Amino acid sequence: MLDYDLHCHSNVSDGTLTPAEIVARAAERGVKVLGLTDHDDIAGLAEAAQAAAQYGIELVNGVEISVTWRKHTVHIVGLHIDPKCPELVEGLRGIRSGRMHRAELMAESLARCGIGGTLEGAYRHVQNPEMIGRTHFARHLVESGQCKDVRSVFNRYLVHGKPGYVPHEWANLKDAVSWIRAAGGIAVLAHPGRYMVGRCSMGKSTLHELLEEFVAAGGKGIEVVSGSHTPPQYAEFARYAQEFGLLCSCGSDFHGPQESYRDLGRLPDFPLECRPVWTEWETAAA
Ligand code: AMP
Ligand code: MN
Ligand code: MN
Ligand code: MN
Repeated sequence: MLDYDLHCHSNVSDGTLTPAEIVARAAERGVKVLGLTDHDDIAGLAEAAQAAAQYGIELVNGVEISVTWRKHTVHIVGLHIDPKCPELVEGLRGIRSGRMHRAELMAESLARCGIGGTLEGAYRHVQNPEMIGRTHFARHLVESGQCKDVRSVFNRYLVHGKPGYVPHEWANLKDAVSWIRAAGGIAVLAHPGRYMVGRCSMGKSTLHELLEEFVAAGGKGIEVVSGSHTPPQYAEFARYAQEFGLLCSCGSDFHGPQESYRDLGRLPDFPLECRPVWTEWETAAA
């Protein structure tokens, strides 16, 4: 079992727990090194750092940046970033700025299908108004009885071709990687397995092209063990890591109790050939 968990969310983005609660839960569950990676925002890191000191675990300052690459939305995790870096702070502010308008359009789309009141409903689940997103709509649709759980919402709504879906232009890949690098961080391609399922999914050759561009832009890592991956996918993405000379990362992508595929911590070991992403900062410190 790995005691590193380098991908999770607090209520600064679309998780349900506060940053301090996330750290407490991680510590209870045996995590020694935790990366907090809220979507497009780093406002939870100070609180998480305080809690990490209290619980005696190591916090890795992280972020998960939303990127539009060709017609695909992909996520780039930045690890060990300096949250004060102006390029990163400004870049993230730019991405967040479109979310409130997108939310209005999502609510209009749902209303056209006879589901009203979702904007107000979604905002009731939001701590940080700039960070309203699909998960908040999903929680409202569950609460109002439209669907039995968040996962089933994403089968019927909010995804490409379904009510409530609104296309959106996020950051571009090169910019996202460059902000992470400017902040001294390591850019990691998040949950590649998720880009290969569903409508509008990538084929293998497209994933290759994405990885080529990512590496050319200065990307250094790939998530191999992820809450979004199956065990055969650990092996598959470990091979991609080798092929592209990438470091391997691991994270639960925890969003909240009862809602996530995997809870914090308790991640299975990497396939043998993997070079863990933390060798980067642990050797730097040694
Ligand atoms: P947004 O950045 O607002 O488009 O929201 C993206 C978030 O929606 C992801 O980070 C997940 O938390 C959630 N999400 C997307 N697709 C699914 C899915 N199929 N099942 C559960 N959650 C999903
Ligand atoms: Mn999320
Ligand atoms: Mn993601
Ligand atoms: Mn995530």
